[in-house]
Amino acid sequence: MKYYSLNHASPKVGFQEAVVLGLAPDRGLYFPESITPLPASFFDNIEKLSHEAIAFEAIKQFVGDEIPETELKRIIAETLCFDFPCVPVEDNVYALELFHGPTMAFKDVGARFMSRCLGYFNRNSDKKVTVLVATSGDTGGAVASGFLDVKGVDVVILYPSGKVSEIQERQLTTLGKNIKALQVNGVFDDCQDMVKKAFLDDSLKHKNLTSANSINIARWLPQMFYIFFAYQQLKKLNKPLILSCPSGNFGNICAGIMAKRLGLPIAHFVASTNANDTVPRFLEHGTYEPKPSVVTISNAMDVGNPSNFIRIQELYHNNLNEFEQDFSSFSFTDTETQTAMKDIYQRTQYIAEPHGAVGYLGLRKELQKHPDSIGVFLETAHPIKFSDIVEPLLNVKLPIPQQIESVLHKDKISTKIKTYEELKKFLA
Ligand SMILES: *Cc1c(COP(=O)(O)O)cnc(C)c1O
Repeated sequence: MKYYSLNHASPKVGFQEAVVLGLAPDRGLYFPESITPLPASFFDNIEKLSHEAIAFEAIKQFVGDEIPETELKRIIAETLCFDFPCVPVEDNVYALELFHGPTMAFKDVGARFMSRCLGYFNRNSDKKVTVLVATSGDTGGAVASGFLDVKGVDVVILYPSGKVSEIQERQLTTLGKNIKALQVNGVFDDCQDMVKKAFLDDSLKHKNLTSANSINIARWLPQMFYIFFAYQQLKKLNKPLILSCPSGNFGNICAGIMAKRLGLPIAHFVASTNANDTVPRFLEHGTYEPKPSVVTISNAMDVGNPSNFIRIQELYHNNLNEFEQDFSSFSFTDTETQTAMKDIYQRTQYIAEPHGAVGYLGLRKELQKHPDSIGVFLETAHPIKFSDIVEPLLNVKLPIPQQIESVLHKDKISTKIKTYEELKKFLA
């Protein structure tokens, strides 16, 4: 498989080069040259297949022959070491819980897959790769856990000092080994700016810097896996499926659309956002106008210029009529989100955290138009990760899961930095 840059000013590359580079030299995102649907027999028999077998079929054309079959199967098995249950919440509404992994965020899937691909590519090389990543919370933990002990890869995580939760900080500062945490005196955008500057800095070329957010195809594409698993669980209901993704950088929903292009029967997609409503505005007016992010209670989605939306525009030929066929996007306020969390809990006892609740709201809105459908919203993080919001609002005390317990007593190790020069010195 070849990948082209969505800026169309760089040569096409194979899977390995696209993963190692992250972004094309012209700063465009990589996109696969072709998408070949899977045979109907695959979907007819999907109930009988293991998660590993489904994932292998979904991803193999995108990897091509750059990772041998046995290695790819090992990578998939190590990636999918936990459950992805579709939990009934109320009539015709299910939560696809993506938070049963090591850091209790859906990003575990992409981070584990990508880290193992890089480990494979580095198997015979002394050349080290440095993964440089800025995080506002969940990405850092998933990347730290996913890349721990991966050969030939150093990980440097920048996070805004005092602006991530205690659990999130523990998840990215307590592992040691090849994982280094930098505490930046500033906000998330300062971390992000430093990372961008480093990628453009010729004097750091020899460090082989790469990114580990969803612009990287090895983090983005495996997010298709659990959309297939949702279908596998709900197929027996024999009704059209609507999928709602709480969206920030739009990586998850874009992977869902890719799964549909592989033949997965999803009738309709809903990209549910918080007050950061760049995409809902685009669908309404036809112009894409990013704006600075605003702070909300679903903070992992506080993105004003979603990086993967350009891939979605590519999939729909940037044509509003095509979008209308199976894609909607709605924005919700924090007040609506809190009301939904309380309402879901009071009626069903299901505890949704703020991101999942935004997904639920978008799903409900779309279901009104298609009353005979089944709806699934993604629950992208465990409520414990947002306990400061969930516990007082619902008046509950959440038990601490073992994955979280295990990092609470370890020492935090991080280096404080203020400026880009300090980052450079640290990398050198
Ligand atoms: C990253 C994240 C999202 C947003 O996912 P995208 O793929 O960037 O749209 C939603 N919820 C949680 C909890 C996240 O950590």
